[in-house]
Amino acid sequence: MRNIVLFGPPGAGKGTQSALLVDHFGFVHLSTGDIFRLNIKEETVLGKLAKSYMEKGQLVPDDVTIRMLEDSANGHPDARGFVFDGFPRTTAQAGALDAFLNEKGQAISGMLALEVPEDELKVRLAKRAETSGRPDDADPAVIQKRIDVYNAETAPVADHYQAQGKYQGIEGLGSVEDIFGRLRSAIEAWA
Ligand code: AMP
Repeated sequence: MRNIVLFGPPGAGKGTQSALLVDHFGFVHLSTGDIFRLNIKEETVLGKLAKSYMEKGQLVPDDVTIRMLEDSANGHPDARGFVFDGFPRTTAQAGALDAFLNEKGQAISGMLALEVPEDELKVRLAKRAETSGRPDDADPAVIQKRIDVYNAETAPVADHYQAQGKYQGIEGLGSVEDIFGRLRSAIEAWA
């Protein structure tokens, strides 16, 4: 069983690459952003709460996010492994994920971090806004806020996995296929 944290700033390609990893390796994909967006669409209480943070480019509070992620993972008892996309985004979330997996006799196998320069992220997010229908992609001020939040609160999560010898940087530029090839090789190289 392999559990992967697919890491990187907004616009790095985590969603695109997660879909390819699911197809190839049969992982279950858990994207906290996707789950929040589904809750917003279904107008749940959680969706209303999440929306108030997401539209400003801020993080949804840890307690809510962690509980939601754990519930979602528990909904897949037969999973052959998870690809966590957009989670953990704070060191508190990373600690909670370690504890959650540990209780099940599991662990994160590795963090694969897509590395993309900030200028390219902004170009990609502006382009994605044309088709994603995501309000948080459409406003340059919200995009900048998400990148700032990533640098301040999320980037330190890499240190958490680095300290466990589980961090691996992956060049996030080039074709979708080239980037997927790098991710696949990294996973296949794990014992
Ligand atoms: P994403 O789809 O991963 O780009 O996430 C979109 C938005 O959902 C983020 O800007 C946050 O507002 C919220 N979000 C997604 N994942 C998390 C998380 N792990 N912790 C807190 N907020 C999150």
